[in-house]
Amino acid sequence: MKELVIISGKGGTGKTSIVAAFAALAKNAVMADCDVDAADLHLVLEPKVMQTSDFTGGKKASVIAEKCIGCGKCQDMCRFNAIHLNGLGNDVVEKTYTVDPVSCEGCKVCVEFCPVDAIEFKDAVNGQWFISKTRFGPMVHARLGIAEENSGKLVTVIRKEAKKLAQQKKKDLLIVDGSPGIGCPVIASITGANLVLIVTEPTLSGIHDLQRVAQLTANFGIETLVCVNKADINPEITDRICDNTRKHGLKVIGRIPYDEAFTKAQIMKATLVEYTGGDITERIKAMWREVTSALG
Ligand code: SF4
Ligand code: SF4
Repeated sequence: MKELVIISGKGGTGKTSIVAAFAALAKNAVMADCDVDAADLHLVLEPKVMQTSDFTGGKKASVIAEKCIGCGKCQDMCRFNAIHLNGLGNDVVEKTYTVDPVSCEGCKVCVEFCPVDAIEFKDAVNGQWFISKTRFGPMVHARLGIAEENSGKLVTVIRKEAKKLAQQKKKDLLIVDGSPGIGCPVIASITGANLVLIVTEPTLSGIHDLQRVAQLTANFGIETLVCVNKADINPEITDRICDNTRKHGLKVIGRIPYDEAFTKAQIMKATLVEYTGGDITERIKAMWREVTSALG
């Protein structure tokens, strides 16, 4: 089984539209949405959820109101300002302390210092991940809780489960919609992948973002291809990107002109190849041929 990850230096480059189009063109693939902070592959692939599992990103503290004697030691000890005197009263005190789960970093210090064992330390549910059916095959995706920051860990869970599913279903390709940027979630998206496709735009920040993500894939020794989306909005910068890319030994497999079909297809919940049979579809099919040949 081979794994293709599509990433971009930032959000909004058309990456997900390209992933969805590839999903439509692939014959025997599993899809994984690892862009967990802005997951929108489901908008086009319309997955039917078959299985839901909780994602626990780590442990967090919580005060048991009935036991708290209001001594305030936990608040004094918490370096993350996560404990506040705003809980329900009990037989001993008018107000108890509570832990703000968003600020709690799970250091466990408060638990150790509470004189009456009034603080629990349990796995916190940070979101859910799903195994679903789509019209193009199985998909693994997730929903991260509000203000949760464990997206790197969730990405790792999604990829692991998607690989397991691909093996069970005897699929020969995993197509991953990777996280944008160069942080922990994107590293979690690409480590161990067979091939990365970077989708970029012809802007000055696009050049910079491309350099950073290309450096990242080079550090991991992963074969990398590049596609410039909206290539005609600034042909000069597109040429610069293509030259730089070649200099660094990467291959540009597509120069896609700006096309409203990207937005319109998404509104219609269709992939580009389903929505339009025009030039865009031909270019995406040509990129797909390059990708499949690079995957071997
Ligand atoms: S576990 Fe650490 S961060 Fe969380 S409330 Fe307790 S002391 Fe603060
Ligand atoms: S240390 Fe324990 S008893 Fe004291 S305020 Fe905190 S939770 Fe309540």
